[in-house]
Order: sequence, then C-alpha cells, then structure tokens
Amino acid sequence: MSHAPINLSQLVLASHNAGKLKELQAMLGNSVQLRSVGEFSLVEPEETGLSFIENAILKARNAARVSGLPALADDSGLAVDFLGGAPGIYSARYADGQGDAANNAKLLLALQGVPAEQRGAQFVCCLALVRHADDPLPIICEGLWHGRILDQAEGEHGFGYDPLFWVPERNCSSAVLSPAEKNQLSHRARAMALLRERLGLQ
Ligand code: IMP
Repeated sequence: MSHAPINLSQLVLASHNAGKLKELQAMLGNSVQLRSVGEFSLVEPEETGLSFIENAILKARNAARVSGLPALADDSGLAVDFLGGAPGIYSARYADGQGDAANNAKLLLALQGVPAEQRGAQFVCCLALVRHADDPLPIICEGLWHGRILDQAEGEHGFGYDPLFWVPERNCSSAVLSPAEKNQLSHRARAMALLRERLGLQ
C-alpha cells in the first residue's frame, strides 16, 4: 500500500507547548502551517503505549479526531543502555513529576559507579503523522542521537537531561551547545529531516 497524497497546507501539532510548535514549525518550513491542538481541545489523551511510537500515534490520532485535520505528534525522551532503555517514555516524569533537576539526580544515582564505557544512551524522537483519526498507514519517522551519560552536570543551555548528555561529535554536553548547534544534531532535527524528505518538502 502506498501513501495517498496529503493536503498539508494545515497540520495540527499534538502538543500544547508553544516552544515546541515554534521549533517544529521552523524545521518544517513555511509551506506547512502548524496549528496547536490546543485550539481545538484542551483534553490530553492518556499516553497508554509502552513505546515512543505507540504514544506518538495515539496523540496524533487524538489531534486529528478533535480538529478534523491531518495531525503530527512527537514523543521523545532519553533511553539509557545500562538501564534497559529507561527512563524512556517516562523521561519527563522519571522522578515522579518533581522536575528536571530531580530527574537528573535520579539518573546520576542509578548510574553511580557505572564506568564510562557502559553509560551509552540515546535521545529518541518519534514523529507520527496521520491524515485522519483512523489512518491505517501513519507516516513514522524516528531520530536517534547517540551519546553517553556524564557523571556530573555540565552546561547551561537546553532543558531536561541536556546537562548530563555527552555529545561525542562535540566532546561536551548538549547543554553546552547553542540552541542553533543543538538543532542541527538533535534527535528532533534528525526525525524532522526524515519527515521533510518523506513529505517531499526538501
Ligand atoms: P517531550 O516528549 O518533548 O515532552 O519530552 C519528554 C522528556 O524527554 C522531556 O521532559 C525531557 O525530560 C526528555 N527530553 C526530550 N528531548 C530532550 C532534549 O532534547 N534534551 C533533554 N531532555 C529531553
């Protein structure tokens, strides 16, 4: 089955986060107008999937359902090899919703004494685009950014786990990178580059 053409003049983003909408709009380019799902409904669906991609599809379907428009969702997080992929889909609430500093402290504790060569990790971004709520063939794009978890925080930029994520290409944490540099290398940038290609937007 091949993908039917999609009318992409408007695309609803399954996120209430204005910063994320701005970042993804910049990566998508001006030929597509991204609108927030918040314009249509403030109710967020329960993320009941066990993987990034399941949750991205679930959010995209919900956004398409409430808006009647094609919808894009992203689900992202940090997967640490030594922890079997944790915190994974639970990255935002790893320390039970106590925020980024508590998440980072919990991660450092979980990896205490683990040598550098076993501290491999990847930031993951899964994008799902559906033409309508029941689309049987969502467009799926995955971006991975491989690195390693430091044993202490470094850098002031970014958010989330950035201060602990060592970027081999730059030999520093992702919180040391400027936003522009991070946007060239990141998991989200990689997934969006694939999506642009799939949509013929390059
Ligand atoms: P969201 O799906 O973009 O809301 O991200 C889920 C969680 O994953 C965030 O709350 C962060 O803890 C983590 N995360 C995702 N992307 C990044 C990133 O680029 N830097 C640092 N942490 C991230």
